[in-house]
Amino acid sequence: MSTVRGRFAPTPSGRMHLGNVYCAMLSWLSVRAQNGTFILRIEDLDNRRCPMNENARILEEDLRWLGLDWDEGGSLGGPHESYYQSERFDYYREQYEAIQKQAVLYPCFCSRKDLLHCTTAPHASDGHFVYPGTCRHLSEAEREAKRQKKTPSMRLCVPDQTISFEDGICGTYAQNLKTECGDFIIRRADGIYAYQLAVVADDAAMGITEVIRGNDLLSSTPAQLYLYELMHKTPPHFAHIPLLVDESGRRLSKRDQDLDLGALRKRFSGPEPILGVLGYLAGLLPNAEPATAKDLIPLFTLSKLPTHNQTLPASFRASIQEAL
Ligand code: GLU
Repeated sequence: MSTVRGRFAPTPSGRMHLGNVYCAMLSWLSVRAQNGTFILRIEDLDNRRCPMNENARILEEDLRWLGLDWDEGGSLGGPHESYYQSERFDYYREQYEAIQKQAVLYPCFCSRKDLLHCTTAPHASDGHFVYPGTCRHLSEAEREAKRQKKTPSMRLCVPDQTISFEDGICGTYAQNLKTECGDFIIRRADGIYAYQLAVVADDAAMGITEVIRGNDLLSSTPAQLYLYELMHKTPPHFAHIPLLVDESGRRLSKRDQDLDLGALRKRFSGPEPILGVLGYLAGLLPNAEPATAKDLIPLFTLSKLPTHNQTLPASFRASIQEAL
């Protein structure tokens, strides 16, 4: 086995849809093509009281059905247990405290409504806004008064620093933390550590060397790289894959139930037509002909992926809808 360690890190908030399968398939293929170790981490931060939830169980079952096996993680366990974020709170607390020693964190009392008028970051296609720093300069007395009425989230004060990295698909990507990212939340008002902190802490602890994930997270990567800096950890290589959109350009999501694995498994007796269409979209196959995950390993490359969103072939969606 090589030293390559890649992962799929789904949030088990419902059945996987085709976009999630695209991401799982490409991260799996990259690891398998390099004879590395593939890790499944369940990002169930919100399910504090219900770690092994039903969605996570179905997710594992769906991955197995697709032929996307993993070497560590999920219910399989491994040397970096637990692979469920809901069971890693003590570790996040340690990392949070370590960050607190190196950077300024401050309580933020802003409501969603207060944040409505913030500026949107120039790169952001996902509506990411730049927090104007409203709560940064509150006095201790003001904080105390506000605490009586509301539990705050905790924000990390970012420096005026430009972070740049080489994305495996999108090329050089640079962002100024102060003007384009803004102070970001690392612990939510409900006490749960934010995704940004958990994902960095976990990828570092699990020795992840490459992250292949959806393009919607490209603009979060500089903030994550800053956390790697504060934690004195080496970041992985990142590659952000295109999002799948429907004919009207709308991003596929868990709302598109005709494209979730429940519907797809009813429609197709095996995973080959699904992997075939995804292999075609990734430029690994000349046509959307059926293929197994293993068939695609020797064909794998990221170099044929575009940097923009990709539309699912209308014929594929039509063939599913016909059968429903
Ligand atoms: N859990 C995130 C999601 O399902 C992915 C996080 C990541 O790959 O960094 O969208």
